Amino acid sequence: MNREPATLAERHAALRARIDAAARRFDRDPASIRLLAVTKGQPWTAIRDARVLGQRAFGENYLQEAQRKIQALAGADVEWHFIGPLQANKTRQVAAQFAWIHSLDRERVARRLSEQRDPALGPLQACIEVNVSGEASKSGVAPADLPALAAQVAALPGLALRGLMAMPAPGGDFQSQRAGFAVLARLFEDLRARGLGLDTLSMGTSQDLEAAIAEGATIVRVGTALFGPRRADG
Ligand SMILES: *Cc1c(COP(=O)(O)O)cnc(C)c1O
Repeated sequence: MNREPATLAERHAALRARIDAAARRFDRDPASIRLLAVTKGQPWTAIRDARVLGQRAFGENYLQEAQRKIQALAGADVEWHFIGPLQANKTRQVAAQFAWIHSLDRERVARRLSEQRDPALGPLQACIEVNVSGEASKSGVAPADLPALAAQVAALPGLALRGLMAMPAPGGDFQSQRAGFAVLARLFEDLRARGLGLDTLSMGTSQDLEAAIAEGATIVRVGTALFGPRRADG
């Protein structure tokens, strides 16, 4: 009876049950935690199949790979989230094609996204990525530089600053995972205390979503637990 979920439908249901169980365990409302399905290294058909199951938000890390899938799924009711590193010369596609960016970590990129965003689309929903594990990660703003960047982003008309994102160094036991997410949660509360109206903590993946939920995650970003191993190029 205890076999691994075999189909995407079974894995999707099992993942949602895992999120809901973690929410209840830590006195959270399960409805306050969104699942972002991460599809880097997965074919566009995986997105199509997950959409049929009711999954609507999908996260991509690489622009070229994302664009192939966005084209293949043109017209589908999908909410695209950009979660990877973004160079300043690639902002135009993100401004045009995505609803969210989770990986903002430089003012220059934020300014370009804001300028390039078509007002008819409404503001691009944005999270600032914070480097909570020091030298172990190259992406994300240093915690000391976060308040200034957050103030700059919050003032941009084409962006709606929603919160913070982090990708702590993988591995570790539950308590050490939790400690990394607690750093982000603390920074989030500090910004809210300064008057920024943030409501989103994007943290937790296949390996550590329970620890993230314990520390207040409102979006968990899950790839392999839902879709299985990645291919080199989706
Ligand atoms: C790949 C990725 C994920 C998903 O990781 P899994 O281990 O596949 O669940 C989440 N967030 C970011 C930023 C990623 O690059």
